[in-house]
Amino acid sequence: MTKYVYDFSEGNKDMKDLLGGKGANLAEMTNMGLPVPPGFTATTEACFAYLQEGDFPPGSLEEVEEHLVRLEKAMDKRLGDTDDPLLVSVRSGAKFSMPGMMDTVLNLGLNDGSVEGLAKQSDNDWRFAWDAYRRFVQMFGKIVMDVPGDAFEDALDDAKHRKGENAQDTDLDADDLKELHARFLEIYREHTGSEFPKDPREQMTLAIEAVFKSWNGRRAIDYRRQNKISDNLGTAVNVVAMVFGNRGMDSGTGVAFTRDPSTGEKRPYGDYLPDAQGEDVVAGIRNTLPLAELEKIDSKSYGELLQVMSTLENHYRDMCDIEFTIEKGKLWILQTRVGKRTAFAEWVMAADMVEEGLISLDEAVPRVDANRLEELFKRVVSSTADAKPIATGLNASPGAATGKVVFTADDAKEWAERGEKVILVRRETTPDDYHGMIAAQGILTSAGGTNSHAAVVARGEGIPAVCGADAIKIDSPSRSFTANGVRVGEDDVVTIDGFNGAVYVGELPLEESKLERARGGDQEARKEPIWRAFDRLMRHADELRMLKVRANADTPDQASNARERGAEGIGLCRTEHMFLGEERVEAVRQMIFADSGEQEQRAYDALLPLQREDFVGIFKAMDGLPVTVRLLDPPLHEFLPNQVDLAVEVAVAESRGEAGAELDRKKEELRKVNELHEANPMLGLRGVRLGIVKPGLYAMQVRAIVEAACRVKGEGGDPRVEIMIPLVATREELRQMREELEPVAQKDMSEAGQELDHLEWGTMVELPRAAVTAAEVAEVADFFSFGTNDLTQTAFGFSRDDIGKFVAMYEERKLVPANPFVTIDRPGVGRLMRIATEEGRAANEHLHLGICGEHGGDPASVVFCHEIGLDYVSCSPFRVETARLAAAQAALGSSESASK
Ligand code: ADP
Ligand code: MG
Ligand code: MG
Repeated sequence: MTKYVYDFSEGNKDMKDLLGGKGANLAEMTNMGLPVPPGFTATTEACFAYLQEGDFPPGSLEEVEEHLVRLEKAMDKRLGDTDDPLLVSVRSGAKFSMPGMMDTVLNLGLNDGSVEGLAKQSDNDWRFAWDAYRRFVQMFGKIVMDVPGDAFEDALDDAKHRKGENAQDTDLDADDLKELHARFLEIYREHTGSEFPKDPREQMTLAIEAVFKSWNGRRAIDYRRQNKISDNLGTAVNVVAMVFGNRGMDSGTGVAFTRDPSTGEKRPYGDYLPDAQGEDVVAGIRNTLPLAELEKIDSKSYGELLQVMSTLENHYRDMCDIEFTIEKGKLWILQTRVGKRTAFAEWVMAADMVEEGLISLDEAVPRVDANRLEELFKRVVSSTADAKPIATGLNASPGAATGKVVFTADDAKEWAERGEKVILVRRETTPDDYHGMIAAQGILTSAGGTNSHAAVVARGEGIPAVCGADAIKIDSPSRSFTANGVRVGEDDVVTIDGFNGAVYVGELPLEESKLERARGGDQEARKEPIWRAFDRLMRHADELRMLKVRANADTPDQASNARERGAEGIGLCRTEHMFLGEERVEAVRQMIFADSGEQEQRAYDALLPLQREDFVGIFKAMDGLPVTVRLLDPPLHEFLPNQVDLAVEVAVAESRGEAGAELDRKKEELRKVNELHEANPMLGLRGVRLGIVKPGLYAMQVRAIVEAACRVKGEGGDPRVEIMIPLVATREELRQMREELEPVAQKDMSEAGQELDHLEWGTMVELPRAAVTAAEVAEVADFFSFGTNDLTQTAFGFSRDDIGKFVAMYEERKLVPANPFVTIDRPGVGRLMRIATEEGRAANEHLHLGICGEHGGDPASVVFCHEIGLDYVSCSPFRVETARLAAAQAALGSSESASK
């Protein structure tokens, strides 16, 4: 027979699957001897069976009854007793805490008889007794029976108003509350069409049932979908003997954190509310006191609480948050769990705990979240003195930003192009807004959650964002919005704080994060706890990881920036930009338009010295570290004006009867553009195909690279060159290219009188055919670098630029496990990578492998790269630290933080 109900003394903290988080931890604390009111837990399995059968599974109700009787004995009170009644709370508790689940019902067990008993037991405190009773009717009605909460709130407000203009709930006396209770019963009847259940055991069964059912409530389902929590877990139900924080000034209730959850500092932190019941703290009925005030009010309980806090922290070996209640000077602990904390606090806490000897360095590294690491470097609002937010939304993407308000993506782009800093304000964003979003300093939306388009794009691009600030009402015709009575027009300056969701009018001072300053060498900032923590844990991470971390960098600046962040080389140096810029345009045009080999060669001769200088800078910045240079990849028409624009210009000029050299030039250009036009440029004449069709092109690039390297070596440097040929599909492509290019390199070296110590030739594996024929390709390659952006596009047949229109639906309907352009699709793209790695290495034992797609900076993908045994990952410079950490976590086998 399945056991469906566990006494607190029968469980422990590792039974979260069965008992839920709350229940497992209540059991753990009970067994630690902490002052937890007795109680029991109906399991998630009972919930699951109930939901499947539509009824309590056989035997489960009997088990509840047994445990209830036991609880009555332990408390020496009986449910519904008219002399000394037992009251209980019925609390939901899933494995993960989940908003949208059924809330808690307190004071269950009250009826017209037991309310007298409650009064008797509280020295005839009838005010307390009626207050407890009316709260019970209210919570039961609202939570179990779906009576609209406002109906009760309005009645409570009426009662207060009758007492006086500014009366608080504490001003209501016993008679008022008795009357209010009677009114609540009417409300209950009006909305449910039935009488309030007076039998305590019936109350309990109904409450448990309601908790079970709430697992399949709309909000709970939505939350699980958003947070990728399985639907098959079910929730447990905890029944706990009531203790009362609302029995006068020697009673109260509060929450406590064993360390400050926002800074990580080791000091007790929390809120306390005297003479109140648990839910009052959250409801914000009265202003709470800082926890430290409790010392003055009740130093004995405060001392005990500190003791409990330290016991819990040592036991869980982590920061805990705690719900507690004091009843007439007696401390009770009602809940604990490992507490949530900010991205800053998690570093400081982990490093401090190492320092204190509470945890080891190996344990500390997985405790910091690689996905949140970038947050530490974002700008912050330096002071909010005298500033009051006009609205608050969700902290959708971290960082602070200030700028002028614009309401359309086109405006954002235009204004930004003329040097304005703008905040793009919209109700919601769509893929069509992308160009404006990336031009803005920050994004503010009035609708949409933390997974809305705006939030996802903002996080991906590292742009601060506040989403779903619903106080903001946008009025498009007048190009303005109002928020809580304040009107803000286009061109007005606002400041948004993506750390806490606050929106301010005007420009608030922003400052570099402490960590950013410390990394830059600021000595004051290096004294900050966050730097010490970061430095300590990252040094350890570097010792742990097996993957090397390189960066994708195209310029000397990017290269040195990446090196400062710990990059151990460049995994992808794109050369496209070396064909852009004013002084190069003419030569590139010539190269494209050349009618003879001679003309083409002249163009290459003009480009060569310029590109050589580019490479010298990059090799110097990465001295002693490998630099993978990718030869030109994009189709040539990307270097020419847009076909449509050009056609329009020519047509207009001709219709005006214009003529002359300028028009001829345009017509010539249009002819070439038409000639180069491709139906599918992504699959057209690009990558190695260009190298084959235009033989002098790659040769010129190779000369620029090798000559630059020889120069740097001649000056005493140590350039380490890896030449990468893109978009290879067949072994023969790579072999023929090498056959053509290697002699060019040899010739350059002998001319320069230098021999490069490290000169390798390899390819980007970004086509499925290359991956599945890796054994052949590897015979002629020194290295492979997985270009997972193209590999994902070609494996799925998805165009990355176009899937914005449907990827959200694809994720929602689970047609793909996750956006494959963010996290490597293990079964498909990942399998291609695995095949290529294994078969490539088998064919060529010297082959080394890395990844240079966007995925190289995604923690979950880094874990995968570790698993298939790549040598390195390469990512954008600002992700280098993220990748270093994720690689260490992968090496520890704790993909926990990375795959969250
Ligand atoms: P949540 O998950 O929303 O925090 P809880 O079940 O923890 O819900 O309960 C809500 C509030 O009621 C908390 O402040 C809690 O401490 C308080 N509470 C719950 N059970 C009891 C009890 N048996 N006695 C006194 N207060 C309780
Ligand atoms: Mg709640
Ligand atoms: Mg709680």
